[in-house]
Amino acid sequence: MKQICRILFLVSFSLVYALASQAADKANDATTVTQKANKEILSILPFKNKQDFEDAKRGLIAELPGGLIQTEGRKRPNWDLNQYSFLDADSSATVNPSLWRQAQLNMFNGLFKVTDHIYQVRGLDLASITFIEGKTGWIVIDPLTVAETAKAALELASKHLGEKPIHAVIYTHSHVDHYAGVRGIVSEEDVQSGKISIIAPKGFLEHAVSENVIAGNVMSRRAQYMYGAFLKKGVRGQVDAGLGKGTGSGTPGLIAPTVTISETGHKMTIDGVEIVFQVTPGTEAPAEMNVYFPQFKALCMTENVTHTLHNLYTLRGAEVRDSKAWSYYIDEAIELFGKDVEVEFASHHWPAWENRNIVHLMKIQRDLYKYLHDQTLHLANQGYTMLEIGEMFKLPKSLAGEFPNRGYYGTVSHNVRAVYNKYLGYFDGNPAHLNPLPPVAAGKKYVEFMGGADEVIKKASTAYEQGEYRWVAEVMSHVVFADPQNKAARALEADALEQLGYQAESAPWRNFYLMGAQELRGGVHKIEGAGTTASPDTVAAMTVGMFFDYLGVRLNAEKAEGKKLSINWVLTDTNEKYGLSLENSVLNYLEGKQLENVDATITLTRKNMNFVIQGKKTFQDLIKEGNASVQGRQEAVNELMAMMDTFDLWFNIVLP
Ligand SMILES: [Zn+2]
Repeated sequence: MKQICRILFLVSFSLVYALASQAADKANDATTVTQKANKEILSILPFKNKQDFEDAKRGLIAELPGGLIQTEGRKRPNWDLNQYSFLDADSSATVNPSLWRQAQLNMFNGLFKVTDHIYQVRGLDLASITFIEGKTGWIVIDPLTVAETAKAALELASKHLGEKPIHAVIYTHSHVDHYAGVRGIVSEEDVQSGKISIIAPKGFLEHAVSENVIAGNVMSRRAQYMYGAFLKKGVRGQVDAGLGKGTGSGTPGLIAPTVTISETGHKMTIDGVEIVFQVTPGTEAPAEMNVYFPQFKALCMTENVTHTLHNLYTLRGAEVRDSKAWSYYIDEAIELFGKDVEVEFASHHWPAWENRNIVHLMKIQRDLYKYLHDQTLHLANQGYTMLEIGEMFKLPKSLAGEFPNRGYYGTVSHNVRAVYNKYLGYFDGNPAHLNPLPPVAAGKKYVEFMGGADEVIKKASTAYEQGEYRWVAEVMSHVVFADPQNKAARALEADALEQLGYQAESAPWRNFYLMGAQELRGGVHKIEGAGTTASPDTVAAMTVGMFFDYLGVRLNAEKAEGKKLSINWVLTDTNEKYGLSLENSVLNYLEGKQLENVDATITLTRKNMNFVIQGKKTFQDLIKEGNASVQGRQEAVNELMAMMDTFDLWFNIVLP
């Protein structure tokens, strides 16, 4: 079960540190075609406008000392900005200038005063943490990804603003970079005793745990690509993650919320600070909310408004997000707070000041998501397909010319394909695409029909010289899937992907391309221990139903062929009962029920079951220790667990 939890930390690209393989040394320079493409960006965007740089450093009180967070005795730092010192240069031919600019902006780090009573620590993790000053202490918004970075942020605030107690923590949404560092700043006892309240939107806990469980292993592997986990930092490697530099590594955790916000307009006062909530479900996260502080005329738009076009579809793999709802809730926020707001901040990037600028920022983001939605369907309704729309889609100049709308994280191309996919699915309606050959079979046929591998490589080399990198990558992928041992094909595909990476404005696109190039050149390098840190908090927050759902996914259907089993579960500490049955190579379970004539009934505590979910113990261990008892056929539990596969994280992506 380790992989259940792996995703929550690996997806958070916590391996960004120093794990890069030596393969990156083989990286090429930017070709003249790439240089030209990157130069063209300079004439499209208003690079002379330095307002974002002013805003990103406004109110700086103190930078992160040494640019480093290092736990004593730990091999690698939890956070290290020094490896990005190459970004001090003006530009590099191997990085899209617009991404370079964003990568520089994301380097501003430390403690900042946003406005009276509101401070942020930015650039110590992927997200920003916000400290709201009450009469006697802090209200904290979004305590980062790991305890170590959150603790460092609080220490920085305490050092310069004085030590104050924390009265409340607000989780704005269910993504790991916004809550998992909570144990670095508050203790569980203070939450249990009611001294500190933890406030979150409705559905937070369920989504925080479940969003990535079922497809956890595959998402983890793809996340390595998305965040460039094994790329060296540098002008030919990882330069940024779009939302920030990357995530801190260390100890993630979770303390369950004690206060749930389910309605827009919900008001409360904590330590003299008035708070108004706007719930925005189904936007950037399934459970999310914006927060307004009327006394300070300050609005937290969390991740609904940032300085990038965000993901409607995240390339690690996830359900497509609802751009219409996203746009609607930004519009609602303008309606609710737009008249009064004087300062806006988010949980990524830098704030905006002055009503005029804030409303402008909110409007262009509102219209960005709505335009992507409406015009994709406008084209789809004329019969254009997903790939065609991805290619032909253009934002109006008034939206595309604004830096906060650029695709540093999401892109127009993959987001409009996501909108198509949300409404119409993956099939474009052309029956020739209804049941195509899979990659290896198709690759072999393509190569054969195109005159053999050598001929294809020869033609593709010419195409490479002409800068047709997308096409080279596509045809070379056919050759590689037909014959993964073909070194020339792998090298040429890697070269093409690399140039595409150098040209990409989006950090995830760049990282995907460069990770692909690296693995084509050097193969897949397994990193020992990567992503195997299961957080006990996360496991404890999983429902038993989620555990059984995941067992269903792990079930080896062939091993289960023709078998029938039924097991009742009794959890004594949580007073839960489940009836689990195997039939037709399918696991079903009933919550709150017990089945009749079962093979076995297993009685244990949920606490002990968590050890099994974490992979630290087996049910057999628990029975031996006397921490679980079985009535009926004891072997039934073993038989069931013997049918479970364990997923390998290191499956191939660019290779068959
Ligand atoms: Zn985030």
